[in-house]
Formats: sequence, structure tokens, C-alpha cells
Amino acid sequence: MGQRYGAHHRSGRIHVNGGARINAYFRALMHHEMTHAVLAHRRRNKNIPTWLNEGIAEWFDYKARDEHGLSSTNKMLLRNAFNQSKRPQLTWKGWLPRNDYILSYAAVLFIEDKFGRDTLWALARDLSNGEPLQAAFKSHLGVDREDLLKGFRRWIGNLRN
Ligand SMILES: [Zn+2]
Repeated sequence: MGQRYGAHHRSGRIHVNGGARINAYFRALMHHEMTHAVLAHRRRNKNIPTWLNEGIAEWFDYKARDEHGLSSTNKMLLRNAFNQSKRPQLTWKGWLPRNDYILSYAAVLFIEDKFGRDTLWALARDLSNGEPLQAAFKSHLGVDREDLLKGFRRWIGNLRN
């Protein structure tokens, strides 16, 4: 899954557009798509929400560029989105709107920050093995979907540059 330019992962295959230049962007993109491939390799990953799938792919994408965390600009954009009447909504199924990659990445950073990196990976592992969403959230995070979203919104509201 992925709507970035240059490559995408679907049905157990990574498709790379012909003539893609091998540069830092491409390297990060391959990390992104490989993450989708790993999360999908057992073909039981239908329970992974879109935002978590894309957010984890972005996590490795950023890492491949020696980056981790949100830039000051992205923190500001997220806080502004939070302050407007339209509160950030995570995408749970289907394609991720292009502008929501940062939000999905932020949600993964929130889980890492609040529950720890090991918990984040354990959650991703169990969901990709087919564990139902609510059960996985309860056992790893101790919260349901609504409480997770509330915590995430609070976390965004408290982001400081
Ligand atoms: Zn993707």
C-alpha cells in the first residue's frame, strides 16, 4: 500500500517505476515499501489500520534518512490542525489521503513515546499475524480505539518545538 511517487507495495510485490534514480529519496522509499512487505508477508495483516501501516512505513522511511521525530514545522502544522474545528482523524481503512502521512507518522511516534518502542513493534507483529484490533490494543496498550485517539489528540496539543 502506498501512494508515494516511484514505487508501491501491493499483493506481496513491490513495484518500482522504471528509471527511478537511486538517491536518498529512493533509498528511503525502499525502506517504506519493504516495511509494508514485512507487515504483509503472512497475508493476515487485514487488521492493521491504514494509519499504523503507513505510520510504521514512514518511521523506517525517516530512519533511512537519519531522521527521527517531527520537525518544528510539522509540529506546528499538526497543532494547527488540532486547534481548528476539524480535529485530526486517523484513517483506519483504505487509502491514506496524501496529506495524512505526517499525521499517521505522528500517531506512531505517539505510541512509541507513550508505550515504548518494544510495545509498538509487538503491537505491529500481533496485528500482522491477524490478531483482532481491539484485542491487540487492549493487550499491548491497555486502551481501546477511542481512548487511544483521545490520548493522541492530547499529545499533539502538547507538542512543543
Ligand atoms: Zn505506504
